[in-house]
Amino acid sequence: MEASKGHWLWVLTGSKGDRNGYVTAVDPRDAVSRALTSDVEDGRLLGDTLGPTGLEVLDAAPGNFDSEYTGDGDGFTLRVKRVGCPEHIRFADDVVGCGSTNVSGPDEEGFFDCRECGVFFNPLRAG
Ligand SMILES: [Zn+2]
Repeated sequence: MEASKGHWLWVLTGSKGDRNGYVTAVDPRDAVSRALTSDVEDGRLLGDTLGPTGLEVLDAAPGNFDSEYTGDGDGFTLRVKRVGCPEHIRFADDVVGCGSTNVSGPDEEGFFDCRECGVFFNPLRAG
């Protein structure tokens, strides 16, 4: 099985601020790499705002079939997660879909659309 490109959510938390975004990547390492070269709101690249430990997080990220990776840098945590149709209920009002990663999005409001079962979901809120 070959790794296929998919949508990945990245979420930064910690002293460097709370930010998130989406990239298209094949694996966790690719997703972290693309997150670090994403523009942030002040016109800089995310990697530039994180400092040298951003690269250590990248070095530690696996280039494998994992669908999730969390790296800790100097005062921040960077998490990447492959976007998939939600298949688990955490809260009573959660939407539940089929778990497929065949999804399209995000739209203007941050929602993805599952091409398999048609569920609309926001990966930031879905498990
Ligand atoms: Zn689905």
